Amino acid sequence: MDLVTDRPRTLLDAIVARFRESFGDEFLLDEPLSRHTSSGLGGPADVFVTVRSVEGLVEAATLAARQAIPFWVLGAGSNVLVSDAGIRGLVIRNRAQGVTFRHDGLGVIAQAESGASLSALVRQCASRGLAGLAWAAGIPGTVGGAVVGNAGAHGSDVASSLRMVRILDADFQARDYEAEQMGFCYRDSALRQGHTGQGHSSRVVLETEFQLRPGSAGEVEAEVARIMTDRKQTQPAGASMGCMFKNPPGDSAGRLMDQAGLKSLRIGGVQVSPIHANFFVATEGATAEEVKKLMAESWYRVRDHCDVELEPEVELIGDWD
Ligand SMILES: Cc1cc2nc3c(=O)[nH]c(=O)nc-3n(C[C@H](O)[C@H](O)[C@H](O)COP(=O)(O)OP(=O)(O)OC[C@H]3O[C@@H](n4cnc5c(N)ncnc54)[C@H](O)[C@@H]3O)c2cc1C
Repeated sequence: MDLVTDRPRTLLDAIVARFRESFGDEFLLDEPLSRHTSSGLGGPADVFVTVRSVEGLVEAATLAARQAIPFWVLGAGSNVLVSDAGIRGLVIRNRAQGVTFRHDGLGVIAQAESGASLSALVRQCASRGLAGLAWAAGIPGTVGGAVVGNAGAHGSDVASSLRMVRILDADFQARDYEAEQMGFCYRDSALRQGHTGQGHSSRVVLETEFQLRPGSAGEVEAEVARIMTDRKQTQPAGASMGCMFKNPPGDSAGRLMDQAGLKSLRIGGVQVSPIHANFFVATEGATAEEVKKLMAESWYRVRDHCDVELEPEVELIGDWD
C-alpha cells in the first residue's frame, strides 16, 4: 500500500491531521530514512514519527493500527538495510530513553525504555560500578533493537543479562515477559518472527529490565575502556551496519570472507572493509542496492571457496525489486 497515493485525499488529510494533533512537528511525510540509519542509506518512509516516551510509542502504534496503516519500529537503524525505495506505511523512530536504577535483594536492576542507547546505558552502569553489561560497550543501537536481535559481543549477549521485557503484543495489550520466554538464540529472538521484511512490526518492545551486580566503578570502567579499545582496533570507522553475516557454528564469518578474498572488494560506493571483511563501509553516493549486490557476491564467494552458506545478520527492510 502506498499511504500517500492510495487513499482518498480527504481520508489522508484526516489521518495526517490526527497524527499532527498528537505528535506536532515530530510527524513528517516522505522522510528519507538515510538520515536515521548508521549506514546513511535508505529511501523515504511514507509517514514518519519520532516518539520520546513509552506512552508516545504505544500511541503511535495504536493510532496506525486504527487507521489500518502498517507500522515499523526503528531504533538506531544500525542493524538494518533499508531499500532505496523506502518503506510504505509509518516508521516510528523510537527515542523513549528513560533509565532508572533500583535495588532488589540480589543486586541492582536497570530499567531502560526501549529507545535508550545501549552504549549510554553501559556508561551509566559503569559510572555506578554496576557490572553485567560491559560487553555491550560500543554497540551503536537502542535497547529495543538489541533485544529483538539478541545483540552480543565478547562472549555475552542480551539473553544473559536481561531479566524482564515489556512488550506491546499484536493485540495492543502490554505484557511482561521473563527473558526465558523470548526465544533467544544466537543474534535472534521470537520477536523477529512475524517480521515480513516489508518493514512491518507485529510486537513492540516497550521497556526492559537488566540484572546487574554491584562492583567497583574503576573495574567496570576499565573493562568498558578495554572493550572500546578492542573495537577501535578491529572494526572500521565509517558508515556501516556492523557485521553483515552471522558467524556459522564454530567459525567466524569475517575469517571466511577474508579467506574468500573479499577484503577491499567494492561495488559502486560500498566496500568490504580492508580491516574486517564482515563489515561493509558505505561511502558518499552509495546505494542500498549496491550493498545488497555486495552481500550476494560475498555469499556466493564464501560458498564457492569455503563450502559454507552464510546467513545474513543485517535485516533487509522495505520495497526491493
Ligand atoms: C559499528 C557497528 C558495530 C556493531 N557491533 C555489534 C556487536 O558487537 N554486536 C551486535 O550484536 N550487534 C552489533 N551491531 C549491530 C547493531 O548495532 C545491533 O544489532 C543493535 O542492537 C541494533 O539496534 P538498533 O536500535 O540499531 O536496531 P535497528 O537496526 O533500528 O532495528 C533492528 C530490528 O529491531 C527492530 N526494533 C528496534 N527497536 C524495536 C522495538 N522497540 N520494538 C520492536 N522492534 C524493534 C526493528 O524493527 C528491526 O527489525 C553493530 C553495528 C554497527 C554499525
